[in-house]
Amino acid sequence: MLAARDVRVTIVGAGPVACLVAIELRKRSFEVSLYERGSDVRLATGARGHSFNLTLTRRGLTSLDEHIVDMLYRNGVVLPQRVIHHVDGTTSCQPYGTDPDLHHLLSIPRSLLHEMLLDEAEKAGARLNFGFECIGVEPASGSATFVDGGAGIVRTSADLLIGCDGANSIVRHEMFRRGAQMRISQDYVADGFVEIRIPALTGGGHALLDAARDPERPRHPRHGLHIWPRGEFMLLAQPNVDGSYTAGLWMPMVGGDDGEGGERLGWDRVRTPQDVRALFEEHFPDVVDLASSYADDVLQWSPAPLKTVRCDPYHHGRTVLIGDSAHTLVPFFGQGINCSFEDVRTFFALFDRNLAETGSGTGSETGTGTGHDAAAALAATLPAYTEWRRPAGDTIADLSLAMASELKDRSGDVAFQTRKKLEKELHLRHPRLYVPLYHAVAFTDTPYQDAVARHERHRAVLDELCARHDPAGEAELIIAAYAEAIGRADPGSGPVPAPAPDSGSGRSDGRAAGIGHLVPAPRAEQRPGGIHGTTGTGLHLDPAQQKELLDVVTSRLMDFHEDLSKGNHPAWYRVAAAEPPRAEQRAPRTGTAVATLLDEIFDSALPDGMMHPHPGFMAHVPSGGLFQGAVGEFVARSLNRFAGAWAAAPGFARLEANVIDWFCSLMGYGEGSFGYLTTGGSIANFMALRCALERLPEHQHHRAAVYVSEQGHFSVAKAERLAGIGAGGHRSVPTDGAYRMDLVALRETIERDLRYGTPPACVVATAGTTNTGAVDDLRAVAELCREYGVWFHVDACFGGFFRLTRRGRVLLDGIEEADSIAVDAHKSLFLPHGSSALLVRDKGTLKQAFAIPDAAYIPELSQDDDRPDFMDYGPELTREFRGLTAWLPIKMHGINAFERCLDDKLDLAEDLAVRLAGVEGIDIVSRGEPHLPTVAFRVRANNVSDTDDTDDAAEAARLTERACELICSRGNIYVATSELPREGHVIRACIMHHQTDAGVIDQFVEDVRWALHRLGEE
Ligand SMILES: Cc1cc2nc3c(=O)[nH]c(=O)nc-3n(C[C@H](O)[C@H](O)[C@H](O)COP(=O)(O)OP(=O)(O)OC[C@H]3O[C@@H](n4cnc5c(N)ncnc54)[C@H](O)[C@@H]3O)c2cc1C
Repeated sequence: MLAARDVRVTIVGAGPVACLVAIELRKRSFEVSLYERGSDVRLATGARGHSFNLTLTRRGLTSLDEHIVDMLYRNGVVLPQRVIHHVDGTTSCQPYGTDPDLHHLLSIPRSLLHEMLLDEAEKAGARLNFGFECIGVEPASGSATFVDGGAGIVRTSADLLIGCDGANSIVRHEMFRRGAQMRISQDYVADGFVEIRIPALTGGGHALLDAARDPERPRHPRHGLHIWPRGEFMLLAQPNVDGSYTAGLWMPMVGGDDGEGGERLGWDRVRTPQDVRALFEEHFPDVVDLASSYADDVLQWSPAPLKTVRCDPYHHGRTVLIGDSAHTLVPFFGQGINCSFEDVRTFFALFDRNLAETGSGTGSETGTGTGHDAAAALAATLPAYTEWRRPAGDTIADLSLAMASELKDRSGDVAFQTRKKLEKELHLRHPRLYVPLYHAVAFTDTPYQDAVARHERHRAVLDELCARHDPAGEAELIIAAYAEAIGRADPGSGPVPAPAPDSGSGRSDGRAAGIGHLVPAPRAEQRPGGIHGTTGTGLHLDPAQQKELLDVVTSRLMDFHEDLSKGNHPAWYRVAAAEPPRAEQRAPRTGTAVATLLDEIFDSALPDGMMHPHPGFMAHVPSGGLFQGAVGEFVARSLNRFAGAWAAAPGFARLEANVIDWFCSLMGYGEGSFGYLTTGGSIANFMALRCALERLPEHQHHRAAVYVSEQGHFSVAKAERLAGIGAGGHRSVPTDGAYRMDLVALRETIERDLRYGTPPACVVATAGTTNTGAVDDLRAVAELCREYGVWFHVDACFGGFFRLTRRGRVLLDGIEEADSIAVDAHKSLFLPHGSSALLVRDKGTLKQAFAIPDAAYIPELSQDDDRPDFMDYGPELTREFRGLTAWLPIKMHGINAFERCLDDKLDLAEDLAVRLAGVEGIDIVSRGEPHLPTVAFRVRANNVSDTDDTDDAAEAARLTERACELICSRGNIYVATSELPREGHVIRACIMHHQTDAGVIDQFVEDVRWALHRLGEE
């Protein structure tokens, strides 16, 4: 059997793209030979002739291995802005985006990039042959003919021939000549360019750096792409690490009349040193003294002409074009090499997928795949590659042509700059609703054609608004109107956002972005019923398809989590003013590509509303949600075992029982205790009431009474209804000065009920009220319940697991006396939503409340109490296996890690309370010692703490509400307001996110101060 290493590939050319292709092929163990007509540039001495700088962006960088990207960042210069040198001698800066760490170009001399890639290809095991010029190709068979330097003829044959031979590709020409039904178009643009060197300053340093100062940050000069836009011609300069600049003068090849009686410059009119000097002194006087050799530079080389080449298809027989040979661009968008590198990435993503489908996989870097598989996968890759890259090549060719006029002419224009400023502000405020085209092209992976299509839609709206309003004076109005119009029409707008830079290097190589959206959805006819199954009838995904689905989803999830951790998401997004109607009334009849669906999930659904996973989210008790817990749940769901009966999945039932036992012991329960994992505290409270009612004769259930503090959770009232307790049975017991249940009042209420014949069913004590985190005196309630023989339930959904900490044990003293306890692991164990439990001191009470004997279709269940059937211990029969959500994180980290995290939250809340108390104009709701990590506070009216005066109280409520809005508006923190009987309107912060740290608290205090300052100004 053939091994993948027996599959031979010939590459024509050894430019940068050929080298990257060779590296990728070698990773997959192919035999690779490159034939380059030139000599090895690494051996060149002295002057090198033409070499210019390339600007790399996300698309290009993402396609390279990490160590190459590192080398590039070490040897290149980051350009976060354009620096415009105006005709009047002034300069202005135009940042490329909102975040220089993310939105920048990496400028690198082409020769340096080329040399690095040659080294890497050689190291990877590719055979490099220099001085071999390709003179003929047989695309159907993959053979090629070369002449070597000594005029000998060499013929090669290969399983695949790749033309990486640049703009004037002979391979393309031969494909056309030998039977490929190919459309080729070639357009020359009027321009040509010559290169000029601006040397480093004597003693080192960049001569133009001073010109690149942003007026808003004059102490921090930044490099930039320097542009001298002069209408028909322009000078561009890019800095190098050694202090020099590589500049290029661009001009039409042929001059002429400008149509207004003047002369239009062209290369044909710049022939002598005097011509060049006159040109520079008039148009680029600031460069004259910096580039002493400019006249020689200009005259040394003939201007290189530029052209755009398009062709279709990119493949024929066993031959394929990659890079400039397939699409040659004019370099004004700086995307030529980026697009070509993206070609390579896409090609190999397609190949890998095809290989996985064809057979055994390459065993990348191990060469375990078979040659037959690899050859078949290659054959399947070529047409798909044309299909997915050709539209990209055509689109970026058009964009590159359009960019020429922006750079030469419009970049210095005031109206143009005003519009750019408006677009930037719009993007800053509504990053999903407006993405400048340049941003989408340079800083995202969105396919070029999609970026353009989206941009066209949005530009039309903006154009119309700019025609109606003045973009300079009425920017706010335009922005608001735009957001409303687009938010309504296209709520999911926006390309795939660029990932945040590596924290250390400050670069945006985008490696984490993945390739899911670059690689096309396989067509339905190829894979009926597959993940993109647009027409397929089958529902099953085979393992390769499952993995692909997971990979694509993982990539999107990681983008989101990485963005979140880098602070790229606010804690709260305002819900769109005009929400889109529920457009989809019926289920779709056919399938949609997963990439599109993920766009809908991540770009459209996710951003609206509250952002619980944000470390600054403090509005609700649950937030965060440990990723490990979600993984546990995913594993359980994808295994889809039924653990409601022990015998059905004994291994998983045991894991779930373990979790319940852990929870019981954490609450101080001993032998005989047990529980049931529920989706939330509401169900747990309901189950507790059902157990409590078991103590009463059935005819008393509907008129029994339940006692809960007025600060207790509303789910208790709901649970009463579910349990069949009549509406008149709810007893709301007053609270004391610390918002804990007033025990004197409780006793009186029970006594009254007994007097009037109402049976007391249950006292629900609260261990952590939502408003202030107050914990009732559990030991005292336990005694009182014992005295009256009433079921004692603790709603410990907020505070329960704080019993892990020393302070929590003091606070929750007596909880172990309860008959039942509701706990939310999605609160005080930081797990994802839906991780709660009801725990009971006596296992039998659960079974008594929920087991239904003798259903004929249920086989005989376990009689062994050590092997419980969960269906007998709770309200559900069929349910998902819940244990892994808690089991995995607890096993992974050990319970001590949770204790430390809980302790940390208590410290942070203490710190926040102390610091807010020190802020002028704030009143803190008093907190006991110790206290759960909730801090409630309000803004004073007229600097009066006492709100007995109704006017002051109303004003304090207004100010507090407004302060809350202002705090949230900054996007760092999200808090909510609530009402307290004594203090009235308060802002409430629950510090319960596992990632909330001292930095977040600092930010919170700063945002509160800022909000108060703003309030003072309003
Ligand atoms: C002035 C200028 C500025 C640019 N700036 C940018 C930029 O800022 N950012 C960007 O992304 N892109 C830029 N580009 C585009 C970028 O340079 C190209 O996209 C990139 O070099 C293409 O690489 P390639 O390997 O496909 O082709 P090439 O770099 O052209 O390499 C082709 C190789 O094939 C060899 N070859 C050709 N014919 C034969 C033959 N018959 N037999 C054997 N060997 C042969 C050649 O000698 C050469 O080594 C710029 C281009 C120009 C001209």
